[in-house]
Amino acid sequence: MNASPVRAENVAKHFGRTIALDECSFELPEGSVTGLVGPNGAGKSTLLSLIAGLLRPTAGEITVHGTAVRGRMHPDVSLLTQKRPLYDQFTVRELMRAGAAMNERWSAERADEVLDLLAGVDKEAKVRTLSAGARTQVAIALALGRLPKVLLLDEPMSDLDPLARDETLRILMTEVAERGTTVLLSSHLLTDLGDVCDHLLLLDEGRVQVCGEIDEILHEHHVAVGPAGQVLEADGVIDSSHTSRQTTALVRGSAPKGWETTHPDLEALVMGYLRASRTRKHTGVTRVQ
Ligand code: ADP
Repeated sequence: MNASPVRAENVAKHFGRTIALDECSFELPEGSVTGLVGPNGAGKSTLLSLIAGLLRPTAGEITVHGTAVRGRMHPDVSLLTQKRPLYDQFTVRELMRAGAAMNERWSAERADEVLDLLAGVDKEAKVRTLSAGARTQVAIALALGRLPKVLLLDEPMSDLDPLARDETLRILMTEVAERGTTVLLSSHLLTDLGDVCDHLLLLDEGRVQVCGEIDEILHEHHVAVGPAGQVLEADGVIDSSHTSRQTTALVRGSAPKGWETTHPDLEALVMGYLRASRTRKHTGVTRVQ
């Protein structure tokens, strides 16, 4: 059997006294597109940097296609960081040449092909004159020019207008369909995740809360609706919200008896976990393990 494209075993990352990640274990299946979600500070960017090899774990191990990642950029991995560091004084074309010079494995054809699909990017423009959205798209072309087997994207859609977002999502979907690239992308935009992801990795306070195929995860959860003021006393209640008319709870595991239940959609599921996280922080209650 082939080694998993990305495997994390009991990974922890501490920055001084801050525990950014703790006891993180998961695997990403080959060719999957996984949405990485969680509240701010959950550890998403740290996890992406660890998988790319830009940071070393404090404990545990990450392997990419069976090879341990040891604190240097793994050749099979491309990472689009939130800062999108690009050489401002270069033109887009010069930047692609730099990509060729700096990467052992590089496909000028692939980088060009991606740029050609992006309506908003002028190859002769200086990088510093590009809009935030165009910068992101150029950074994606650079990432894909490395012909990665694993593509890590930190908030790739955050500064794209709807047209650029659509172009970019299509490029990513084609990449996965044609090259079988495994993708892990963090986003706060839940509709983007629903459009492209088949897997979900939900972090909170540095720990994996949920990981797996989205359809299976949704099936494993229920939204239970009951009369206003009623409290759902059941195992696996993640979050409860109340209006003057009804109580709604997100539940992991079997459907609670006596309540009207359906399965959540992705947005309801993620929102339930995010709300639960905020409630825990406000009330000082420690996380449910
Ligand atoms: P997210 O991407 O989910 O918002 P991060 O991975 O950026 O979360 O951060 C996780 C935690 O680690 C936060 O508490 C953050 O302040 C801390 N952290 C991240 N990077 C550093 C760093 N270089 N030095 C110190 N603390 C850091």
